[in-house]
Amino acid sequence: MTLLDVSDLNVSYGAIKAVTGISFHVDEGEIVSLIGANGAGKSTTLLTISGLIKPESGTISFSGEQLPRDPSKIVSAGISQVPEGRHIFPGLTVLENLQMGAFLRHDRDEIRSDYDRVFDHFPVLKQRRNQDAATLSGGEQQMLAMGRAMMARPKLMLLDEPSMGLAPLFIKEIFRIIKQIKEEGTTVLLIEQNARTALAIADRGYVLETGNITMSGTGKELLNDPAVKKAYLGG
Ligand code: ATP
Repeated sequence: MTLLDVSDLNVSYGAIKAVTGISFHVDEGEIVSLIGANGAGKSTTLLTISGLIKPESGTISFSGEQLPRDPSKIVSAGISQVPEGRHIFPGLTVLENLQMGAFLRHDRDEIRSDYDRVFDHFPVLKQRRNQDAATLSGGEQQMLAMGRAMMARPKLMLLDEPSMGLAPLFIKEIFRIIKQIKEEGTTVLLIEQNARTALAIADRGYVLETGNITMSGTGKELLNDPAVKKAYLGG
C-alpha cells in the first residue's frame, strides 16, 4: 500500500528552481533511498514533505489523504524528520531531547516504553541520558536525533544524510539501526550522498539530478546500473 505519494512537485527559492516536477512514492514498510549529487534537490524535497518549505505546485498525499501544511500537523499525521546536521537541542539533556520528540503524544505509558526502545537501540544514550546533548560526539548526536524522531512513533521517518561527517564505524551502526527501524514497522525515506550504502539497504531508490528524477528501480537494480555506477559509485 502506498504510504507517501508525491506528484508533480515543483519547489523554487525565488528564481532558483530546486525541484522540477518530480513524482515518486513510498510504500508502507519500505526503505526508499533518494540519491543525488550536491544541490540535486534532495534536502528541498524532504523539507517540503515535512512542511518547512512551501511548494509552488504539486501534491503530497499520505495514507491516501492530502498532507496538511502545518509542520506540527504533519508530525501528528505520522511523519518525523531527522534533519541534516542533526539539530539536537543544546543546553537540554539527552533525556530532555528525547522528551521533545514525544511532545505531541499523550499516551504516557507507551511513551515510557518507547524510551526503553530507544535505549535498546542506542545504549550510549542511556549512559549519557543526563548529560547536555551538546557534549555528545557527532555520531552520538546523530543517534540522539534518530531516537528523538522515534519518540514521535512515526509511520514514516525522513532521514536527511544520516551518514554525513561520521566515522566509518558509526556509519555502519547507523545503517544497521535504520534497517532495524524498518523491521519494527516504520517506513523510511532516506536521502544520502553515500549512494552505495543507501542503495544497499533500500528496497527501492530514485536518482535525483538537478531537480529531476532521472532513474528509479530496486536498490539492487540501481546498484548494478552502469550509469549509476559511473556517476555515484566511483565507476
Ligand atoms: P546537498 O546534498 O548539497 O544538501 P541537495 O540535493 O540536498 O544537496 P538542496 O539543498 O535541496 O540539494 O538544493 C537544491 C538547489 O536549491 C541547489 O541549487 C541549492 O543551491 C538551492 N537552494 C537550497 N536551499 C536554498 C535557499 N535557502 N535559498 C536559495 N537556494 C537554495
